Amino acid sequence: MSEKIQAIRGMNDVLPEHAHWWDFFEETVRDWLAAYGYRTIRLPIVEQTALFRRSIGEVTDIVEKEMYTFEDHLNGEHLTLRPEGTASCVRAVLQHNLLYPGPLRLAYSGPMFRHERPQKGRYRQFHQVGVEALGFEGADIDAEQIAMAARLWRKLGISGVRLEINSLGDSASRARHRGKLIRHFEQHQDILDEDAKRRLHSNPLRILDSKNPAMREMLECAPKLLDELDEASRAHFESLQVILGELGIGYEINARLVRGLDYYNRTVFEWVTDRLGAQGTVCAGGRYDGLVSQIGGKPTPACGFAIGIERILTLIQEENSGVSPEAGDVYLVHQGQAASKFAVTAAEFLRDNDFSVILHCGGGSFKSQMKKADASGSRFAAIVGDDEAIAGEITLKPLREEAGQFRMGLGEAVAWLRSQSI
Ligand code: ATP
Ligand code: MG
Repeated sequence: MSEKIQAIRGMNDVLPEHAHWWDFFEETVRDWLAAYGYRTIRLPIVEQTALFRRSIGEVTDIVEKEMYTFEDHLNGEHLTLRPEGTASCVRAVLQHNLLYPGPLRLAYSGPMFRHERPQKGRYRQFHQVGVEALGFEGADIDAEQIAMAARLWRKLGISGVRLEINSLGDSASRARHRGKLIRHFEQHQDILDEDAKRRLHSNPLRILDSKNPAMREMLECAPKLLDELDEASRAHFESLQVILGELGIGYEINARLVRGLDYYNRTVFEWVTDRLGAQGTVCAGGRYDGLVSQIGGKPTPACGFAIGIERILTLIQEENSGVSPEAGDVYLVHQGQAASKFAVTAAEFLRDNDFSVILHCGGGSFKSQMKKADASGSRFAAIVGDDEAIAGEITLKPLREEAGQFRMGLGEAVAWLRSQSI
């Protein structure tokens, strides 16, 4: 016997009982993006490997060990399944010259791929919604994006996600900080893990991002980037905090927040919950003023964030446990030759009038069909026997309450169903 074919580890099917939460999320996101004037862009899932190497940075978890990279055997091109969306978005903006008329607010969503160890909240194919604002320099856009995320949590009914912010300053401030940081790490060589030792000189800032508990104490007393900020970055950070204050958005400054990607500068932020264990960051972003020029465009300030959809959905489902998915309106059962023929017409007529109808298929007694109708979660059964068919009528029976049953013509049935406020 051949072996069973299964999904790839870390790449999940979304089964119908969960899919409706994805629908709910996507519908909410659509309105939310429109409310802030973000327009959708749809991007390819495969890009040239060089795009990610150049933008995310060589010495990062993603580029060093998480990318699904392969050679196209037909033409030898080096390709990668996108691990995130910002690089592709900026690539598209430059390729199509979208910045020509002026600044731009864009949003994308879809699957991302990273070869990580799968665990709760961490998958190899996962999904993000991301927004990018290009061409805006002031802290007002950073604040707008943070307020935007806060509004989404409210719309989704999620509570208990807290905001952490930090500033990475400009490249000169990072260079000053870097020297001090390396000295600090060198004094604690014995505590550094393998990753940290390897990054000590190539990318020491990234060591601050480590989740290794053995290094926590040593990281907590490391020199802070905030103490090295240049004047303009300091003013930017202060102005962000003033606007957040005006908007009534609470935050905490986390001096160790550095983000896993190289292209960030100035503002970085994360929304974090305690309810998802180690995978507690549900949304992460910040400013990346250097990226556009790094991949070949004119210097353009920019700010964006990405939401991890699986992690958010886990929170939504927790908050809504016990809420059953929205059921259909009508399950139509039928028996007899004339009845089965009329059932098709009746079902189409109800759908013409915006009701959802599951038409029973596969025969069986009325009793067994009614069991299926009950199990379907529909609010009403519509029953058609040959009698009804000849009269051009259906019998409607509420399934969620004791209320008898009512036989009527199709037009009347539509009016009656509407009066039941469905
Ligand atoms: P982490 O520190 O958890 O690895 P990250 O810094 O790699 O996160 P980003 O690249 O900033 O994450 O991605 C933004 C968001 O996407 C994360 O905050 C998280 O919610 C989600 N995310 C990232 N990687 C995964 C993954 N492998 N599985 C599920 N969600 C993910
Ligand atoms: Mg990661």
